[in-house]
Amino acid sequence: MAEQAATLVGAVRLTPSVLLLEVEPQGPPVIAFRAGQFISLRCDEAGDVRRSYTILSSPSRPGCIELLVKLVPGGAASELLAGLVPGAVLHFTGPLGFFVNDAAHHGDVVHIATGAGIAATLPLVTEALGRERERVTLLWGLLAADTPYLVERLAALPTERLQCERILAPSWPAVHALLAARVTELHPTLAEPTFYLAGNGDMTRTLRTLLVERGIDRRKSIRTEIFYPHEE
Ligand SMILES: Cc1cc2nc3c(=O)[nH]c(=O)nc-3n(C[C@H](O)[C@H](O)[C@H](O)COP(=O)(O)OP(=O)(O)OC[C@H]3O[C@@H](n4cnc5c(N)ncnc54)[C@H](O)[C@@H]3O)c2cc1C
Repeated sequence: MAEQAATLVGAVRLTPSVLLLEVEPQGPPVIAFRAGQFISLRCDEAGDVRRSYTILSSPSRPGCIELLVKLVPGGAASELLAGLVPGAVLHFTGPLGFFVNDAAHHGDVVHIATGAGIAATLPLVTEALGRERERVTLLWGLLAADTPYLVERLAALPTERLQCERILAPSWPAVHALLAARVTELHPTLAEPTFYLAGNGDMTRTLRTLLVERGIDRRKSIRTEIFYPHEE
């Protein structure tokens, strides 16, 4: 896939460790993508270091995309992206990925995200709400000590068919346990649900195991996007 250049037009710290970037593709000046897809950013001159970032913004704005970046201390991409100022040129390939809404599915959908996994989840939730069919549940797990972010965006979502909950706990294992408990509670109330899990590998494994134990078809009704393997 050919690499494309893009100009950074905005960089805002939503919290001390979460960055919102606005990026305008150059020649072609738009990027056609589906909600939930990501781009692969080149993070060094040689192209040896590449990192994936899901497009947070809507496919209806293909000329200026948003990326939500959780800054990891000492991380190669984190260090690079944290230091960029508007006008910087980035290089990416994409769009890539298959973590997208299943257009043929007519049942309820449950989106479970941890941390920056919301970057993959929010576009899918927004798109699902626009389809005016299913009930949509969004469970977003976060560390209680972290500064909240994207609060206004979540509050702006239409609430008629949406149940949106932030699940807070002092540690990631505790967040995962609360998410599992909430899903166990919700499951009997759902009609032919599909589950979308986005975040780290520990969360997706824990929730997928639980769902399979409860009789959910792993291939048909559980989709995962793993940002990184383990919580540290
Ligand atoms: C398909 C896909 C989509 C992704 N989309 C996003 C996105 O929208 N936003 C986003 O922030 N990241 C996203 N990621 C993760 C991203 O690609 C990088 O892995 C991440 O930003 C860390 O890169 P780094 O070079 O700064 O750190 P690295 O040098 O790669 O990692 C340093 C250490 O930090 C750990 N780590 C990585 N991410 C996190 C995290 N979020 N919290 C705690 N520890 C972490 C790693 O396991 C490693 O041990 C996505 C990954 C994939 C595979």
